[in-house]
Amino acid sequence: MINPSRLYSFLDPKNGFALHFFDGQKLIYDLALIHSLKGEGFNYFRDTVLSSIPMISFLKTGESLGLYLDSEIPFFRLKIETNHAGFTRTLLLPEEFESFPERITGKSRITKLFPQGRSPYTSLIEFENELSKNVINRVIKESYQSDAEIIVSENSDQSLILIKLPPINVNASESYDAPSMETFLKSNKVFFSEVFHSAHNDVQKIVEHFEKSSFGYLSSRQVEFFCPCDKERMKDNLRMLFIEDPESIFAGKESLEAKCDYCKKTYEITRNDLKAPAFGNNPVN
Ligand SMILES: [Zn+2]
Repeated sequence: MINPSRLYSFLDPKNGFALHFFDGQKLIYDLALIHSLKGEGFNYFRDTVLSSIPMISFLKTGESLGLYLDSEIPFFRLKIETNHAGFTRTLLLPEEFESFPERITGKSRITKLFPQGRSPYTSLIEFENELSKNVINRVIKESYQSDAEIIVSENSDQSLILIKLPPINVNASESYDAPSMETFLKSNKVFFSEVFHSAHNDVQKIVEHFEKSSFGYLSSRQVEFFCPCDKERMKDNLRMLFIEDPESIFAGKESLEAKCDYCKKTYEITRNDLKAPAFGNNPVN
């Protein structure tokens, strides 16, 4: 049995780096069960999910994040919605998408939602024939203005994000020069590759492995699929179409099966469900 997926946070104060390691083995297992994508299309979906989830580490309590990728060449829509608690849902359409795009032309939108009705933050990035492996790294660098690098494992369903922390001169007499991102990546290349090859799936083994290096363990959180869809929301989504042209969705039948694109749950919706609610709640009547 696979343990639930977790996002682990580590800190290397001496070299000035934070590292968030995502053991996504269970999440990717579930991704394959929920979505019917196959072959290279699924591999692309897997890679994008693994490279996006570490962004949860940028969220504070109560915050949530949406990453929307609208690619025109090749045509597809990819959505990942997640929050500080690790509840995640995702979709890639069309369902028969079967390639791993080397390059992408389109745009991405990042939306960050805050608790207590603070207005959301949105950032838009356009891609022109961009290498698809650069897309998420660009989103992070431009939306968060961080010196960060995402690495997705080729061996295991795991990934990590390395973030260079801003210098804090707590002790001016200490003349230690923190390494650059490039230097630090190079000196840890073998270590990261060992981590991915081990494909550890439990908290103790993962923490022990990282603590053999210069990283100290801070915390970890579970990441799992959760979709808040329900029949009422599904009815709300269909009501406008129904009012405009009932036959466009019912095609002469009395009921239809509406499927959630995220979790693939189906809801039986009847014509009666979509008829305008009674005016009983309206004080004018
Ligand atoms: Zn759903």
